[in-house]
Amino acid sequence: MVVLAVGAHPDDIEFQCAGTLAKYVQRGDKVFLAISTDGGAGSSGPSKEETARTREQEARRSAAILGAELIWLGYPDEFLYETEVVRLRYIELVRQTRPDVIITHDPQDDYHPDHLTTGQLLWNTRVMAAAVTIETASPRWEKIPDLYYMDTLAGIHFRPNDYVDITSTIDVKRKMISQHASQIAFMKERYGMTMVEFMEICASFRGLQANVRYAECFRRSVTYPASYAKVLP
Ligand SMILES: [Zn+2]
Repeated sequence: MVVLAVGAHPDDIEFQCAGTLAKYVQRGDKVFLAISTDGGAGSSGPSKEETARTREQEARRSAAILGAELIWLGYPDEFLYETEVVRLRYIELVRQTRPDVIITHDPQDDYHPDHLTTGQLLWNTRVMAAAVTIETASPRWEKIPDLYYMDTLAGIHFRPNDYVDITSTIDVKRKMISQHASQIAFMKERYGMTMVEFMEICASFRGLQANVRYAECFRRSVTYPASYAKVLP
């Protein structure tokens, strides 16, 4: 199976679905991570360009720990818009990775506009990628992938209908998050806790709901053409 996880910012994927992705990798599936924006706005010190460079390096180290291939899309942090050019890039993203399942942000109820836009872009393009009349660099991907939305930050407004027990892979998730050193310092300064501590609270809470130690949760998109195949690990 091929899995494409798409986050708006460096660290979104780690936070919301890295434990699940680690289970895919462990059973031999191919995992791609794509990150929409360069993360350049998430700092109070260095320039946007310098922050973006640091965050790309951190994301690459994190992807290497998972054993996944990283696709850095590099749009400006906080300013992701769906223009025709951007939509075509996401059609190409689906075609170049040829996924069976896509995991991304919920396009309807999230706090960050880049998250909403990223989720909407994948919702928009997963079917278009099969269209013979739309040309991009790669050939059309004839299979329409299953689409799952990952949890929101702190679980606010998210209505899950699938849980994955990540008790056996939470250490991979911790290690991946720990690569985002620049973000950890920024979060600690702002919110008074590390990202690992924040993540553990969320994973414990979702675990409580699913009657396991740690869990991640998802909601399947059931718009046409809906599939009910079991694709989560
Ligand atoms: Zn984000």
